[in-house]
Amino acid sequence: METTQFHGKRLAHASAPGDVVSLARVHKVYGSGLSGVHALHDIDLQVGSGEMVAVCGPGGSGKTTLLQIAGMLDTATEGNVVAASLLVARLSEQARADLRAEMIGFVFQFPNLLPFLTARENVLLPLMLRGCIRHGGHGAAHERADALLAQLGLATQARYDAARLDPGQCQRVAIARALITRPRLVVADEPVSRLDGGSLRLVMDLFARQQREHGTAFLISTRDQRQLTGANRCLQLRDGRLDGPDGVDAGRALRVRP
Ligand code: ADP
Ligand code: MG
Repeated sequence: METTQFHGKRLAHASAPGDVVSLARVHKVYGSGLSGVHALHDIDLQVGSGEMVAVCGPGGSGKTTLLQIAGMLDTATEGNVVAASLLVARLSEQARADLRAEMIGFVFQFPNLLPFLTARENVLLPLMLRGCIRHGGHGAAHERADALLAQLGLATQARYDAARLDPGQCQRVAIARALITRPRLVVADEPVSRLDGGSLRLVMDLFARQQREHGTAFLISTRDQRQLTGANRCLQLRDGRLDGPDGVDAGRALRVRP
């Protein structure tokens, strides 16, 4: 069997070669006993390189839980998660954090910008935290941050303190921040719920460009699948279960566009 070295460990490949992340028979239970909440049931899901997968479902259906497990922020109670061909359960916490930082960009439900930094500095933050650049950024990184902000209609606001931005603008800055490291996978939890129609189009155009030019994969949750016009697949999550034809392999079966 083919293996990969990571943190000095030899780990077996356990997913298809094109998959950025895959979940197999994943369950998640919060708590235990009678008060335990079974948030995810038997989830099979694969996200391939350059693919956009939308997870649609009402509040409480398990979207955030699913995204946190696929993004290695939380662990499954049962089942396997494979990211970049590595079995996540076999990684130490540190190795998992390193892999996460290396390959994933997150857009959380709330933007959580630092209000005393400018929009541009907020976008550059992941690179600063990695020690790739010093405070304020420099040449290429700086230009990339400005280019991302401009593509999201925020060219003027790049210099504004985040405290001056409205909620929709903050959300777009958070989207640029998720893309600045050129991640292989973007995990975005209801990223477009606060955007008007014009901003939504800009975000979808930017995501499509990232897919095309960098092969970026996207796993995005939404309550309204009409918002995610560019998705290759839309999966329905209901009470922690993915609905598919006959309930079989919904993670792959509901391919909308090749
Ligand atoms: P969604 O994002 O679709 O609203 P969530 O993944 O947040 O759904 O929640 C799925 C279910 O798991 C809900 O019943 C929720 O109350 C429960 N849940 C989520 N997080 C926790 C937690 N940390 N502890 C206990 N229950 C939780
Ligand atoms: Mg949620």
